[in-house]
Amino acid sequence: MTQSKGLRFIGITGGVGAGKSTILSYIRENYPCEIYLADEVAHEVKKAGTPCFQALVELLGKDVLGEDGEIHKGRMAAKIFADDTLLEKVNAIIHPAVKTYLLERLQEAKKSGKVSLFFVEAALLIECGYGELVDEMWYVYADESVRKKRLMESRGYGEEKVAQIMAAQLSEEEFRRASDFVIDNGGAPEEAYAQIDARLAGLRPAMTWKDQNGR
Ligand code: ADP
Repeated sequence: MTQSKGLRFIGITGGVGAGKSTILSYIRENYPCEIYLADEVAHEVKKAGTPCFQALVELLGKDVLGEDGEIHKGRMAAKIFADDTLLEKVNAIIHPAVKTYLLERLQEAKKSGKVSLFFVEAALLIECGYGELVDEMWYVYADESVRKKRLMESRGYGEEKVAQIMAAQLSEEEFRRASDFVIDNGGAPEEAYAQIDARLAGLRPAMTWKDQNGR
């Protein structure tokens, strides 16, 4: 199965609650791929001992550390909340490190030739300049009212919290303009999966690992 015609580097973006994680779970189970969530990578690259960790402790002070010696999420958030200028500085440290990490993984995946798809997911991919890095940008779309309902049900978010997150994200029009492919996830998940299968026609193995092993 090494008739790979190269690796497709795909960005998955969309507003909160649009269904990015749901869609990636489907892709993970059905396609030969590697998937990275930018938030998880950001967590990884600032662990103790990394250059990012060093730079963040210098910027924010040692009291940003938790008892375990790692950067404490809540303490970092409190500092950023108290000083408007810090968010930009923190992002200037973390974002390039995330990109470097992903591009290294991408090179490894290309070399190994084991997968045909390489995904990175984040709500902020477009703002962070990933449009220029990926081969394709996919936008997961669902109407605001649908997303609001799903988030209030599944994550227990209040109306105000949902509105606040949405206000900080790109508008539907901005997402669409910067994307190559739109997945409409306003209906049943299976309808979204069918759109993905059509887009990735030919890449799905006849038998997945799950089919063969029954789990
Ligand atoms: P995102 O990762 O974009 O924030 P999620 O994949 O976490 O969004 O989806 C938000 C919530 O909506 C989850 O509880 C998920 O199970 C649910 N959900 C996603 N897609 C659908 C769908 N097509 N129909 C019904 N519920 C959905």
